[in-house]
Amino acid sequence: MSERRVRVRFAPSPTGPLHMGGVRTALYNYLFAKKHGGDFLLRVEDTDQTRYVKGAEDYILEALKWCGINPDEGVGAGGDCGPYRQSERKEAGIYKEYAFKLVEDGFAYYAFDTSEDLTNMREMAEKAKMPNWQYNNITRTSMKNSVSLSEDEVTKRLDAGDPFVIRLKMPRNEEVRFHDEIRGWVIVNTNNMDDKVIYKADGMPTYHLANIIDDHLMNISHVIRGEEWLPSAPLHVLLYRYLGWEDTMPKFAHLSLILKPNGNGKLSKRDGDKGGFPVFPLEWNAPDGAVSSGYKENGYFPEAFINMIAFLGWNPGTAQEIFSLEELTEAFTLERVGKSGAKFDPDKAKWFNQQYLRNKSNTELAQLLMPIIAEEKLDVCIEYVAEVCELIKERATFITDILEEGRYFFEDVSAYDEKTLKKKWKEDTPTIMQELLVELKSIEEFTTENIETKFQAYLEKNEYGFGKVGPGFRLLVTGKGMGPSMFHICSVLGKEYVLDRMEKGLVKIEALKAEA
Ligand code: GLU
Repeated sequence: MSERRVRVRFAPSPTGPLHMGGVRTALYNYLFAKKHGGDFLLRVEDTDQTRYVKGAEDYILEALKWCGINPDEGVGAGGDCGPYRQSERKEAGIYKEYAFKLVEDGFAYYAFDTSEDLTNMREMAEKAKMPNWQYNNITRTSMKNSVSLSEDEVTKRLDAGDPFVIRLKMPRNEEVRFHDEIRGWVIVNTNNMDDKVIYKADGMPTYHLANIIDDHLMNISHVIRGEEWLPSAPLHVLLYRYLGWEDTMPKFAHLSLILKPNGNGKLSKRDGDKGGFPVFPLEWNAPDGAVSSGYKENGYFPEAFINMIAFLGWNPGTAQEIFSLEELTEAFTLERVGKSGAKFDPDKAKWFNQQYLRNKSNTELAQLLMPIIAEEKLDVCIEYVAEVCELIKERATFITDILEEGRYFFEDVSAYDEKTLKKKWKEDTPTIMQELLVELKSIEEFTTENIETKFQAYLEKNEYGFGKVGPGFRLLVTGKGMGPSMFHICSVLGKEYVLDRMEKGLVKIEALKAEA
């Protein structure tokens, strides 16, 4: 038998922005598809109009684009199985016939109960100390539906245009079993399942029905999704069976949760707000005006973000941690996706970004910095910025850190590190600095080596240790107590600037000291 073509889908509901968990689901689907030379589809599941949030779909598309997870087919990409938005599929009349066929075949029934009927039932059950009332294979007989009512009554109601929903008729005491690619066998007894509404009074299918019909019509081979859908999977298996599609039912893989940094429950937006880290890929401007920060706006590279997300629940089984999207595609398997929840570690997220930053060339970093530099109206050329990047990148996690850490490359020093000033600026430091200044002035070619040679010679001549001269020198030129090689810094800054800084710095520091 020929292997089935791998076709997977990411099927978000546009009820809000994409959470990191959603990105991970999309990513694993994408990796799985690419690994097997298959197709990755994007389907928008917007059957629940009450939960629709304006802007959410655009946000999802943009976020996936930023992450480099581009669908082969679906919303925004087109394809032969469209439309790919469920609301449009409903308009095209795709779902209705299947819902009615399920009734005809005896697997589903019409239910005429009003919402008051249902509320009354729930309240009565609660009073009788039977909370969690369910519409199921026992209670359905005392409700208003085509199982409990006479055929005449049902026809009369349908002819009169009484509103109805269609519910799936859960069989009594049957075992539903399926094999989950991550969790192994899952077995549920139908007595524990309710008669789910599959078709609503407004003619909209519910998620369950639409999802199964679409997966079937789109020839989906594997359903990879969050574990919150695991309880629905047995119902989905029954739907495949009742619709006669069990032979081509997709394989299921339910991903475990992404957990809070302390491991205590599902990671939420609130955890991000509290811990000062984003949980959304891009900034989200909610319709109510609230703004939530995004990885992009926080300075993360999309490749670093994706690499970090990939490791939340999967590992390659080796020590390698840095993976490009292509390498992830190569290495990814569902077998290596964990069953238990993956703790999110905000420091590790930063670590990934730092690694990616370090691996970029100085020119690439400079190119990324130039627009920020232009915004700040700093007048420097890209070659200079690239030299600064070479010096500062080891100390940076984000691109903007290079600018912050290396401010002194772009602006005069306006403040001096207090600790260094207090501990290392001694009474004889000004004299030493004056002497050093004279030495530096005498250098013809202001290269790193020449500066270092001159500096060392000065130390030797006076029998000074580095600690006597170095900290003051750094403080004058950069305002800081620590940093990359001073000789290198000075050669990048250039002789004029260095001497000017030292002269001005001596005056400013002496004034500061006098004030103190
Ligand atoms: N629309 C569902 C969601 O928002 C998709 C679940 C599935 O992949 O089957 O998560």
